[in-house]
Amino acid sequence: MIEWPKSNDVLGTVNRGNPAESGLCTLCRADCKGRCETWLSSLKGRKMLYPRDFGWVTAGSSNTCHIGVSYNSLRIQGYNYGAKGIPPGLTSSSDDCIFPNVNIETEFGNEIKTKARVPLMTGALGSTFIAQRYWNSLAIGAALVGFPIVVGENVVGIDKEAVIKNGKIEKAPELDRRITTYLRYFDGYGAIIVQMNVEDTRNGVAEYVIDKYGDKVIMELKWGQGAKSIGGEIQVDNLGYALFLKERGYVVDPDPTKPEVQKAYEAGSIKTFARHSRLGYTDLATVEDVYEAFMSSVRYLRSLGYKRISLKTGSYGMEGLAMAIRFASEAGIDLLTIDGSGGGTGMSPWNMMETWGVPSILLHAKAYEYAKILSEKGEKVVDMAFGGGLAREDHIFKALALGAPFVKLVCMGRALMIPAFLGSNVEGVLRPESKKAVNGNWDDLPAAVKELGTKPEEIFAGYFEVQKKVGESEMKNIPFGAIAMWTLADKLAAGLQQLMAGARKFSLKEISRDDLVSANRETERETKIQFITDAQDERAKEILTSGLKARVAKKSS
Ligand code: SF4
Repeated sequence: MIEWPKSNDVLGTVNRGNPAESGLCTLCRADCKGRCETWLSSLKGRKMLYPRDFGWVTAGSSNTCHIGVSYNSLRIQGYNYGAKGIPPGLTSSSDDCIFPNVNIETEFGNEIKTKARVPLMTGALGSTFIAQRYWNSLAIGAALVGFPIVVGENVVGIDKEAVIKNGKIEKAPELDRRITTYLRYFDGYGAIIVQMNVEDTRNGVAEYVIDKYGDKVIMELKWGQGAKSIGGEIQVDNLGYALFLKERGYVVDPDPTKPEVQKAYEAGSIKTFARHSRLGYTDLATVEDVYEAFMSSVRYLRSLGYKRISLKTGSYGMEGLAMAIRFASEAGIDLLTIDGSGGGTGMSPWNMMETWGVPSILLHAKAYEYAKILSEKGEKVVDMAFGGGLAREDHIFKALALGAPFVKLVCMGRALMIPAFLGSNVEGVLRPESKKAVNGNWDDLPAAVKELGTKPEEIFAGYFEVQKKVGESEMKNIPFGAIAMWTLADKLAAGLQQLMAGARKFSLKEISRDDLVSANRETERETKIQFITDAQDERAKEILTSGLKARVAKKSS
């Protein structure tokens, strides 16, 4: 097992728990008092791109993370000349080709293009209570920055206030809140995507959303996720609520209708119930069956009026991956999110999360290979997003490059939730009257925050940029978690711009697989990204042995 470093002296970061490949703790807590890189970046923003204590230190890379096959075993190329993809209005002069001018805007979609200011989207934030609690920060933050957010599955099904009669939703206040909160600050960049699983289909989510919101919403069909190979789960600690969920048609475990389970609950030996979603396509036996069922779902959504449809698939094996890419491409789907094992936000069974499915880098490497096969056949390939254990700016670059030119966005789940937790905790202390509403977990600011200040203007590096965007009077309505989200996104954006400038790529469409190298042979074998000293080696030898002088003389004559 690889042990990822728990602290980074250069950045002054320490993980509260055990770090995963992403750099986040395997267990990330909403009440965390710090201070991993993502946590600190949500306060300090782009300052976290650099070593601390400038003027008093020197810093050198430890270069120790190239073990095994992972995103951390890929390295990013830099070049000593040239500039590609220079944005309109700029020249190739070194005055124009500076990293802040790198254009990281992206777009995805088949016929209708959806734009995003940064190549990011959230993972599906569904019926887990953590997504519900921190939604305002997540949605407002994503809308202000301008990237898509995904409302995950089962939001209507678990809402006690929702009214569903004969497979038709009459009222869905929680889903309405999720959508309207995002749309309030939506300015043309980003999108709100609503996911639909087996239960949501039965409950009539697609029909409700199109009637109420029209094509402002992208509807997402869900095949799975990276964290688990069964449907989504939540945990409830109330027998009455467990019975309500059972009544709504969910699998609830243990079964709350059984007298022996009720007795155990009363005695205290059973304290919680797990609510599970159903598996999809259980009545289908062949690839052809799945093809027909999928195409029929897409046709149905289009008949309802949906102009943009996406698909999310999990870390199924190669057959499932190929089906997702081919079917989504043929159906003219707007976005296919491919979520690798390792990533997770909800209540996935732990040992399942640890052992099932295809880890992100392997899945993503194959996704590229399969997409290329379709493309070489002359077929239009669906735009893709890669997700699963990605958290930093170098991860964004690597995922975009590994899947270039098919990948348009990087999907982040847990990383983008940290600013929402952290901002809410700060808000709960500084605006005690809203502590309950924002789900603040702290009574006092911890030392790592106090070092920065005691007012939001001092604490969040992005405060005044958000104020510039929304206006001073609107700031009272902006949750601190959204300001923290802005601050983190600004760090990720600046870091990505720097990596791209170093690779001499001034717009996203220029990023290519050649911009990556494998730092070990195993990673080269699995990803087909060349080993670090093999890449460009032939070119290098040609420079050393060819008649360079003669060619230059000929060119200038
Ligand atoms: S915010 Fe989460 S990932 Fe970061 S140190 Fe705290 S618990 Fe760990």
